[in-house]
Amino acid sequence: MYQSLQAFKKEMKKHKKELTTFLKGLPRRKVKGLSSKFYRLHKEAYGKIDCGQCANCCKTMTPTYTKAEVKRIATHVGMTEKEYWAKYLRKDKAGDIVNRKQPCHFLDKDNRCTIYAIRPLDCRQFPHTQKKDVLFQKEIHIQNLDFCPITFHVVQRLNEIVLKEAAKQ
Ligand code: SF4
Ligand code: SF4
Repeated sequence: MYQSLQAFKKEMKKHKKELTTFLKGLPRRKVKGLSSKFYRLHKEAYGKIDCGQCANCCKTMTPTYTKAEVKRIATHVGMTEKEYWAKYLRKDKAGDIVNRKQPCHFLDKDNRCTIYAIRPLDCRQFPHTQKKDVLFQKEIHIQNLDFCPITFHVVQRLNEIVLKEAAKQ
């Protein structure tokens, strides 16, 4: 869908304000079948956008880790938890465990995750467009608009659909 990340960023900049306002106002709109619509658009987005070509989340954001995930990953790479913390992790202002640096140290040059099978739940669930509680997730979607072409596609298409439905009423 986007020729490059630059093309996505350019398009996103044009629509960011409109889509942020749309998401903020979504609870008031009482959209019929919101979860199903969102999920359908999530599937549509994955049919159009190749995460393997993009990897922008792994390049520019950090996952959050549970303590159990840190332990599992440290063992997997042959380090003690202490060594792993010192080399790769920190706590952010909210107290979440996050990467020290971006891109993620597990992203290889071909945009592949080298711990794919044991990656954190946060990575597995990103960008959360598969979740049914759309209204609960809306602040996350607003944040992710800047980084994620899948999120941008889903929210932009939903905006179009909702506007079209409203015009018919
Ligand atoms: S989830 Fe979003 S940011 Fe991450 S690789 Fe896929 S399209 Fe890119
Ligand atoms: S652990 Fe893997 S999926 Fe998660 S941010 Fe790092 S490279 Fe991406």
